[in-house]
Amino acid sequence: MLRQYELVDLVKSYDPDVDEDALNRAYVFAMKKHGAQLRASGDPYYSHPVEVAGILTKFKLDCASIVAGLLHDTVEDTDTTLEEIKGLFGEQVAQIVDGVTKLAMIEQKSANKKQAENFRKLLLAMSEDIRVLLIKLADRLHNMRTLHFCAPEKRARIAKETLDIYAPLAERIGMQEVKSELEEIAFAELHKEAHDSIVARLNFLREQGNSLVPKIIAQLQKDMQENGIKATITGREKTPYSIWRKMQQKNASFEQLCDIMAFRICVDDVTTCYQALGVVHSKYHMVPRRFKDYISTPKPNGYKSIHTGVIGPENTRIEIQIRTYEMHEVAEKGVAAHWAYKQGERVVGKNFKWIRELLEILEQASNPEEFLENTKLEMYNDQVFCFTPKGDLIGLPINSTPVDFAYAVHSSVGDTCVGAKINGEIRPLRTILQNGDQVDILTSKAQHPSPEWDRFVVTGKAKAAIRRYVRAHKREQFIAMGKQTLERLFKGENLEFSEKALVNVLPNFEAESIDDIYAKVGEGLVSGWDVLKAIYPAYKQSKLEKVVNSLKPVFKKTLHKTKKEDMQINGLIPGMAVHFSGCCHPLPGDRIVGIVTTGKGVAIHTIDCKQLEKYTNEPERWLDVSWGNKANEEGVYTGRLKVMLANEPGALGEFSNVVARYEGNIANLNIVNRTISYFEILVDVEVKNLKHLTDIITALRASKVVSYVSRANQ
Ligand code: MN
Repeated sequence: MLRQYELVDLVKSYDPDVDEDALNRAYVFAMKKHGAQLRASGDPYYSHPVEVAGILTKFKLDCASIVAGLLHDTVEDTDTTLEEIKGLFGEQVAQIVDGVTKLAMIEQKSANKKQAENFRKLLLAMSEDIRVLLIKLADRLHNMRTLHFCAPEKRARIAKETLDIYAPLAERIGMQEVKSELEEIAFAELHKEAHDSIVARLNFLREQGNSLVPKIIAQLQKDMQENGIKATITGREKTPYSIWRKMQQKNASFEQLCDIMAFRICVDDVTTCYQALGVVHSKYHMVPRRFKDYISTPKPNGYKSIHTGVIGPENTRIEIQIRTYEMHEVAEKGVAAHWAYKQGERVVGKNFKWIRELLEILEQASNPEEFLENTKLEMYNDQVFCFTPKGDLIGLPINSTPVDFAYAVHSSVGDTCVGAKINGEIRPLRTILQNGDQVDILTSKAQHPSPEWDRFVVTGKAKAAIRRYVRAHKREQFIAMGKQTLERLFKGENLEFSEKALVNVLPNFEAESIDDIYAKVGEGLVSGWDVLKAIYPAYKQSKLEKVVNSLKPVFKKTLHKTKKEDMQINGLIPGMAVHFSGCCHPLPGDRIVGIVTTGKGVAIHTIDCKQLEKYTNEPERWLDVSWGNKANEEGVYTGRLKVMLANEPGALGEFSNVVARYEGNIANLNIVNRTISYFEILVDVEVKNLKHLTDIITALRASKVVSYVSRANQ
């Protein structure tokens, strides 16, 4: 394990001005906090964060990262709080530690391979600061290096997760070395026999071949020079894991593989790539089906290169990649190596928006520290990833709600969703989902898509389904409404109303069916009066206007809902009675839900009302409701306060003065308890909304006679 002074020296070797004091304090802090905790290896636990910090020095990371590396497990595994870290090591370190802690909390539950990609994206999206991700990778690297100390069944799971998630992540941010080491350890764990046999074969070949790689490089270099091509040639043995993967992909044996050694020819421009290819193919035998031109047809991730397999110098089967320096930079480094980036070098990443953005920051930053501080990973910040109860990850656009989630799972789930549990708690359907949320959609066969949802859903799938339903449903409503209007109008005029008569006047209204006429009347495009006149052209009646007027309230009632409560709340079932529940006294500004009661219509509760627990198992009774726009302007609502008043003369008077000063009106007052020194009272106050009540509470708290006041929600 690294000693304290060794770690400080390592950081000082690339950053002479580093805050030594902070490093020392963090080292000691981690040691003390982890105390007697032990690793599976039997080492003291704090050796782990120290080694992680050591790995981070290899990336030449800044002081805040090293300190955060030392502290990365303290919040998760000890009694340390973020506040404590913030106080001792500053805001920035606290934020990084917080980020690493959050990453540790999300767990990949689904073994589904397809889910791995989403999970990687989730990790990227959650590590807003690139340093969070680097610490996570260093953490995983050290855990892999010490994997053999763990219990066997745990080992396989961790190794698999490393292959699925962390090695690709390391690759994604350009850390080839970390990626290879993670893969090799995981491979040795998961497929020990295959690993050992490949390593043995490689060793055998190495002994036989006597440093074949430099010989082949020299020969290829000579070939290029003779043809006037300026090129840089590198070569390497492939890693056991990449050889094994090739064997699997191509279903080939070790002997059949021609790319145990791979060589790379880098040249200045694309034309020269093809010239170099010509030289290689004219001099050496091509291995059939090994040629791939990713320059003319780049891979989806933007990768460009020519690949070919030949029987090369020394009569050995080799793989050769030919590319420009520019293509090489993008392929190898990605964006990374930026923290140790030397000025004057330049990575060109035309293909990736996020690479370009990172490069822009890089170019503007005068030193690596500044670069790191400014590097917020802007990856996938237009998406959120949420878990289903089974652990599958659903990717959604930012600002998505449980309704979007439900439709993403399946349209039948979307159509029938009545509520959602987010991380185990019932939340309104309009709640905006956050990365890593676990969403459990409650459904009911009686539910239909609500026009209200259209206001907050963001996915096209949800919008289309809701609008389709509403369109179909609206027509039904208009038809019923139009029919009712006509029947009443005719009855009021003592005229016979028959559908048969309507058939005769269809052309007058460009209608194809009776329902069309009803719909037009219901929607208000055609007046009932027009229809009546069309059927009875000779009919004249002075009372007519009066009758039409008398119908208006009926019309209005169905069209707009006239009840006071109806106007204030969105998402109700039209025509159903509604009342504010007496247990929690909801106010505009509270988050609310509706519960369909037996006999008394819909009861509105605040989302945190204890009474709701009774209905947990009856999702079909839940209605997703919200305050209407008018709720704040109109209406008087009752809020309930629990107050402790000093038992002294004038206390009650002073109390009601404060309430009155803030334009609240005391509607009811009950003394619940009375002692020598205080009264406990429950007061119903009429207010405009939650803010109004909160203002009154704040003012009461400032009053001398009030020793305690809070909202009484239960
Ligand atoms: Mn750790």
